[in-house]
Amino acid sequence: MKLSRLGEFGLIDRIGRKVTVGHGVRLGIGDDAAWVDHPRGSSLITADLLIEGIHFDLKWTTLVDLGYKSLAVNLSDIAAMGGVPAYVMLSLGIPANFDSENIDQLYRGIGSLAKQHGVTIIGGDTNIAESLLISVCVIGHPPAHPIRRAGARVGDDLYVTGTLGDSALGLALLRDHQQAPTRAVKQLIARHHRPTPRLAAGALLAKHKLASAMIDISDGLIQDLGHICEMSGSGATIEQDKLPLSPAYRLLAGKNGMNYALSGGEDYELLFAAAPRLRKKIEALSKHARVAISRIGSCTPARNGIQLVDSAGGKIAIRAQGHDHFKKN
Ligand code: ADP
Ligand code: MG
Repeated sequence: MKLSRLGEFGLIDRIGRKVTVGHGVRLGIGDDAAWVDHPRGSSLITADLLIEGIHFDLKWTTLVDLGYKSLAVNLSDIAAMGGVPAYVMLSLGIPANFDSENIDQLYRGIGSLAKQHGVTIIGGDTNIAESLLISVCVIGHPPAHPIRRAGARVGDDLYVTGTLGDSALGLALLRDHQQAPTRAVKQLIARHHRPTPRLAAGALLAKHKLASAMIDISDGLIQDLGHICEMSGSGATIEQDKLPLSPAYRLLAGKNGMNYALSGGEDYELLFAAAPRLRKKIEALSKHARVAISRIGSCTPARNGIQLVDSAGGKIAIRAQGHDHFKKN
């Protein structure tokens, strides 16, 4: 079957069905990170591949920012399990026209984020390539109960950390060279280049067993909510007016309105479900983790699918699902 029909997630499903699950795999293909046993404990492991021309464009991304982001997106997957990142394996495919200065810049970006979170680069692989290719694998320590994509129950509240859509709008601004570099423009672009992995919030949610399911939003809210719903066997209703938007987003989203926030991608915020009785605790956690946490909707029976509603409960059509590398949206 053509990959454009199967789609990225159909392809991953297919791979998952063909792979034999060996001993010690607590959680294999299908979540934000794998969870595996070893003789003296267990680890979380996650990997991401960033390819020039697909995930980034060196016309408007510095190598320092790119290094930062390539680690940030992996740390975000560890955050989505409630884990603590520890080790990084970093592999590079490097175009022939690069020099050592370029690679220093990349590692400067990686190093600054690694230092913030106490993670160490322990190895990787280096080769020549047609375009720049960065493959990052992060190994982390799991909490006692890692938070999976499965586990949301009907009636649970749905929450997101931070604000949505800034990164996708930032990218749109980068592509549209007409924009004057105002403060708001710079803020959105910075969110695109340097996403913040929500490690403190993720770890606290796991430690206090507050979230029934969690994912990081890499491919857009609606798409990633779809993964939680599918794995949990639930549906969801999202109240559009409750989606957290930054002042810069409100100022500059223009006619695209809510689209970036709903399906823009690369937010790297956490989306999680939690029982309604935990609302006060989640408010307190938000202060502790120093990140805004907004209640945006709730889980419903699976037959309702994913619905977007206005404040009066009226249905709003969902235009774009989100990002899939193979399907043409
Ligand atoms: P995320 O957006 O959190 O990085 P992905 O959608 O990339 O998650 O991946 C979903 C799941 O599929 C993960 O468990 C990942 O490890 C697994 N996966 C992705 N690509 C492959 C592959 N080529 N072979 C095996 N597993 C894969
Ligand atoms: Mg993820």
